[in-house]
Amino acid sequence: MRVMNFSAGPSNLPDEVLKEAKENLFDYHGKGFSIMEISHRGKIFEEVHFEAMQMAKKLYEVNDDYEILFFQGGASLQFAMIPMNLNLGGACEFANTGVWTKKAIKEAQILGVNTKIVASSEESSFDHIPDFTFSDDADYAYICSNNTIYGTQYKKYPKTKSPLIIDASSDFFSKKIDFSNIAMLFGGVQKNAGISGLACAFIRKDMIERSKNKNIPSMLKYSVYSENDSLFNTPATFAIYIFNLEMKWLLNQGGLDKINEQNIKKAQLLYKIIDESNGFYKGHAKKEDRSLMNVSFNIAHDKNLEPIFVKEAEENGMIGLKGHKILGGIRASIYNSISFEKVKKLSEFMEYFAKKYV
Ligand code: PMP
Repeated sequence: MRVMNFSAGPSNLPDEVLKEAKENLFDYHGKGFSIMEISHRGKIFEEVHFEAMQMAKKLYEVNDDYEILFFQGGASLQFAMIPMNLNLGGACEFANTGVWTKKAIKEAQILGVNTKIVASSEESSFDHIPDFTFSDDADYAYICSNNTIYGTQYKKYPKTKSPLIIDASSDFFSKKIDFSNIAMLFGGVQKNAGISGLACAFIRKDMIERSKNKNIPSMLKYSVYSENDSLFNTPATFAIYIFNLEMKWLLNQGGLDKINEQNIKKAQLLYKIIDESNGFYKGHAKKEDRSLMNVSFNIAHDKNLEPIFVKEAEENGMIGLKGHKILGGIRASIYNSISFEKVKKLSEFMEYFAKKYV
């Protein structure tokens, strides 16, 4: 029996994906080997690799101005690769909305890049997305679309003439996006689109051009990934295989509009319980900036009840609800693969718990 898994990442995978991977783990489509046991340069793996890329582009409907690149090193390696490849000696601007933007800013600073923080919500424990504008002439403008720990999410991306870079690790493939304003959208895929070991970026070709003449080691250089179809060295073949299955699963669900509809309904269920609990629960994020992916809240009635909530939830088959150590409290991550029914079960548990302990 599988539990209801509300972990923030690595997180739940669709049953269909796990079952298909299991079926083919020992003997890949009757070939007599698993996908992990063959060359990344052979036809069989290349089919998986290129099909995954093509499905990912199809889901987001990106045009030929963009390429998709696969990396190892997680989203965290991109925190360093972005300034290395994309800074032109001018200012690189950031909106600081949580731990993950702070880490991205830190990496740029280590590299001696001229970083400018245009706004921050740190003073109120990152409970909202601040109002701000980026300059029109920055080398790039950087945001994190969904703040996994604090449970805030941009409803609209800022308009700027500077190339907009988005860390979408925790709302990757969760909704359609208008790419017209975006120079790079990237993330680790282990929350909404696969397993750890693979990070992926949609990157506009002019950004790849920027890296071409830079003196950067090959494995850190976007143009090297682009020129080699992300096969410059041995990639994380199994993670790419699972990503392929996830892309197929998303297409079978009806694509990103359909998944987004589901995601909205799921999040509404939980926020409704929080808002109608007469102060028993309190959401961390300001209402207008609430995340559809990570619902972070406290038991305001009595914080000592939080570990009891986590324990009793586990006894009821729900895991991964303990908040991040920085923020504490409770966090329910309700990514793409968590069904409406599972979120309904959690909402019923929250109602029951509030009645029991009020
Ligand atoms: N950005 C965001 C928004 C994240 O949530 C995380 C991981 N929780 C990261 C970046 C770092 O990702 P990775 O562990 O893949 O480096």
